[in-house]
Amino acid sequence: MSSVFVSFNTKLAQNVLNESYNFAERAEIPAFGKPAITAVCMTKIEHIGIAVRSLEDAVPRYEKLLNTPCYKTETVENEKVNTAFFQTGPNKIELLESADPEGVIARFIDKKGEGLHHIAFEVADIYSEMERLKKEGFVLLNPEPKNGADNKLICFLHPKHCNGVLIELCMSKEVTVEDKSDSGA
Ligand code: ZN
Repeated sequence: MSSVFVSFNTKLAQNVLNESYNFAERAEIPAFGKPAITAVCMTKIEHIGIAVRSLEDAVPRYEKLLNTPCYKTETVENEKVNTAFFQTGPNKIELLESADPEGVIARFIDKKGEGLHHIAFEVADIYSEMERLKKEGFVLLNPEPKNGADNKLICFLHPKHCNGVLIELCMSKEVTVEDKSDSGA
């Protein structure tokens, strides 16, 4: 009786192992080798950031485009940026207007014009993801997580290591992770 039970469990364990192995095989990217099997850290695209000259002009346009009202506007003082958010189905759009002629968004628009500015991924634990990405050779634009819009802790990755795309990591401040930031905020 007990041997049947044990052999069933062994088979189950083997199936789990095979599944993990298959997952690793599927996830393999030949040029970069096989990644370690770890928990999924980037859980989804949290939002797409679009640089605009004027929120006054862009917000009604995006309200028409998405057929939904802007649900929130917020100034992020440390980033010198005014933001406006839209929710469309499961997706979020962040419009970014510079709050300062010398701000990063103003400089971005001067150089490239309005348009796609960044893609933000939601992460389960921003501290461990920053550590992981640093080890993988990505360049973090801020060495510690900083306050972003919409109650998030954020970190940007340099676009030159992401094929020209500015990547933002963001974690909801409501997520319980041991606070390792110096500010203690
Ligand atoms: Zn963003």
